[in-house]
Amino acid sequence: MAALRVALVGIGKIAVDQHVPALRGSADWELACTVSRKGTVDGVQAFADMASMLEARPDVQVVSLALPPVPRFVAAEAALKSGRHVMLEKPPGATLAEVHALQALAAERGLTLFATWHSRMAHAVFPAKAWLADKTITRAHITWREDVRKWHPGQDWVFEPGGMGVFDPGINALSILTEILPAPVHLQSAELEFPANRQTPIAARLAFSGNVTADFDWRQEGPQTWDIAVETTAGRLDLRMGGNVLEIDGQPAGGQNTIMGEYPALYARMAELIAAGQSDVDLAPMVHVADALTLGRRVIVDDFFF
Ligand code: NAP
Repeated sequence: MAALRVALVGIGKIAVDQHVPALRGSADWELACTVSRKGTVDGVQAFADMASMLEARPDVQVVSLALPPVPRFVAAEAALKSGRHVMLEKPPGATLAEVHALQALAAERGLTLFATWHSRMAHAVFPAKAWLADKTITRAHITWREDVRKWHPGQDWVFEPGGMGVFDPGINALSILTEILPAPVHLQSAELEFPANRQTPIAARLAFSGNVTADFDWRQEGPQTWDIAVETTAGRLDLRMGGNVLEIDGQPAGGQNTIMGEYPALYARMAELIAAGQSDVDLAPMVHVADALTLGRRVIVDDFFF
């Protein structure tokens, strides 16, 4: 089968760190061109805006959007309207309704729309889901504490409306939670810490039905933690390193301590979806974030500067 030609849009941190190596490492994909106002990739045709790319490259079948969530809708809509399959970085949009609109557009045009959740492709997520499938869960807790200065250096958009603040990483934990739990949970209360000079929270504590809680914090210096602990009537499961490492009752039980398999798996899944004529848009993680921003008690904390 000929490689799928893809335009990669928004050449920033994740495009360079993950999308480009994943595409270059796969015989099923050809990085045909990029679209970015400033960013480029060596040796790849570069466009500064979507309209010029869509006009100049009718041979590009797929558009992969690695932009921040707010500018993503306009780009996705333009790509779908010109007949291209679309892959969305997480979170899939700035609002739920705009993603519903993209879903309807893709369905109407017979195109594939894939709302990716890279953390669901982490090495230990599938084994964790399989282990939990027949268990009775008594308690679960997410600890997602990282340093925003290290992972999002100078990215002011994360603190602008629609940037989601600490939910930008926190939604990765929620994408794993919603994948591995045998039954859905819903948010019951939340406390959100907003820096006095910013529009989005820097920390959040969430409480869900089913005795599930979460602690997200973007001010964590030193060791970084991306853990989910699940207690069941038949033992305890720990997912560590963002879903890549599994422990059962404190003993190693699978996975690999690297995130480097996630993006190749996303592109493999996108190729499968296109071949099958299907879309994959699961908004469950984003529903929890929207609920937290609706229900959360707001606490004002110190100004934050990068
Ligand atoms: P980023 O480094 O800020 O890159 C995004 C790029 O999008 C920018 O370099 C910019 O390139 C372009 N862009 C277009 N319109 C923009 C606007 N209005 N504001 C800011 N940038 C704009 O961001 P990122 O970390 O790669 O994140 C992009 C998406 O990937 C987010 O949804 C994020 O949640 C997701 N993601 C990030 C990570 C991570 O570790 N950073 C991991 C997984 C997923 P030009 O200026 O050249 O147009």
